[in-house]
Amino acid sequence: MLLLCLAVFYLISSSPCASAPSWYSTGSRSARNKLLLISFDGFRWDYDRDVDTPNLDKMAQDGVKAIYVTPPFLTITSPAHFTLLTGRYIENHGVIHNMWFNTTTQEKKQYYMTQFVDSYWDNGSLPIWITAQRQGLKAGSLHFPGTAATYKGETVRVRKVEPRFYDHSNETDWRLNINKVIGEWFHQQDLDFVSLYFGEPDSAGHKYGPDSPERRKMVQQVDRTVGYIRDTIQDHGLTDQLNIIITADHGMTTVLRGGLVKEIMLSKIPGFSFKDIKFHLVDYGPAGMLLPKEGMLEKVYQALKGGHPHLHVYKKEEMPARLHYSNHPRLLPIILFADPGYVINGFLPVQFHKGEHGFDNQVTDMKPFFRAVGPDFQKNQVVGPFETVNVYPLMCHLLGINPEINDGHIDNTKHMLVPKKKAEGNNNKMSTRLQVVVGLSAVTGFLVLVFIVTTSYALCKRPKIREENSCKLKHAASEENTDMEQTIF
Ligand SMILES: [Zn+2]
Repeated sequence: MLLLCLAVFYLISSSPCASAPSWYSTGSRSARNKLLLISFDGFRWDYDRDVDTPNLDKMAQDGVKAIYVTPPFLTITSPAHFTLLTGRYIENHGVIHNMWFNTTTQEKKQYYMTQFVDSYWDNGSLPIWITAQRQGLKAGSLHFPGTAATYKGETVRVRKVEPRFYDHSNETDWRLNINKVIGEWFHQQDLDFVSLYFGEPDSAGHKYGPDSPERRKMVQQVDRTVGYIRDTIQDHGLTDQLNIIITADHGMTTVLRGGLVKEIMLSKIPGFSFKDIKFHLVDYGPAGMLLPKEGMLEKVYQALKGGHPHLHVYKKEEMPARLHYSNHPRLLPIILFADPGYVINGFLPVQFHKGEHGFDNQVTDMKPFFRAVGPDFQKNQVVGPFETVNVYPLMCHLLGINPEINDGHIDNTKHMLVPKKKAEGNNNKMSTRLQVVVGLSAVTGFLVLVFIVTTSYALCKRPKIREENSCKLKHAASEENTDMEQTIF
């Protein structure tokens, strides 16, 4: 009997169910961790390949690295950042360009001044700061596109907007801003979520080109900064309660120049005239939009269609559905975009950048990087590509808030996360109950097995006249034995 008890005890303690809770309910941290979203503008997915990046490498070891992520089209700064904040494609959130414009007055505002046009941003989609605040969390934002605007009468409550002529590449300023976000906002003011923006390596990529030594040097600065961020978090004792997501809005590709290529100059395309155009948005990289004068749409469209071998021309409603850039009233009736390496000029070649973005989001060079580390993320995990519309539902999940309607889904990123703990007390109660049930089942099963085997053995030892019945019993015992094995394990 003692041996039987030991066997039963062994079965209980070694069953898979008994060992499961160590994976499912470890740790004692609170249900919600803090979250820091960082964007390094224009950090292409492969910028760490030709530069020594020890801090980014360490972050990948300690957390999750995506091979790359796919930004929304148009692959430019304000629209793509607002997708990170809302989880919506650009045609759904309506921040369709870096520029605000009025087709009637011909007025245009550049990137910086557009930050202060509330109606441009507050267009039906709420950024995550507002949603978090409405659900009782404390949110902050530093320099992130969209920070200056008011949404349904509400702003992100803790914020810093850069001055008009700000040097986005000053590393000393970067560290001061990091100290503010981590030391003041997360540590002293106990914020739950902060979005933090750096304007590099975008500027270096534009000015010198993505393959230049200057861009590589800037990636080293980014890498040092990632190390500084993680050290500062450690110094404030926040490492175990702060998740970090680092990504970007788009990538960068080299602009083709010189006699090697025929540049796209709309005024030189036969049959096209700016006299037929009421308003235009060209000379801003590889994409543009046109509003033809009344009755001129077909003429303009037919002239431009096929007008240059590297120029794509669409009526707004005929844009490829995969780009999600057709269904918004702010989009003008004709949309243009160029093949990689080409930019669209109107009258003169006025664009001198060596690097550009704004191309089709399927172009490999347009893909940004993605890294994440923290208590809720897996360690040393490389994941496949996903669209950046999925960052928003991931962030809402991490913060434990209900998301607004969006175009992403948590299913596309949840494999990066450590399996979510149930409420600690409930889970322990459940697992204890489970162990008791399994233990009792094992004991009962074992006793029944012993009983049947013993009984059938005794029957077999009786006179031949009962042999038929004993065989039936043996058969039954064998069947029941199988059932019990399934019950026990
Ligand atoms: Zn950008």
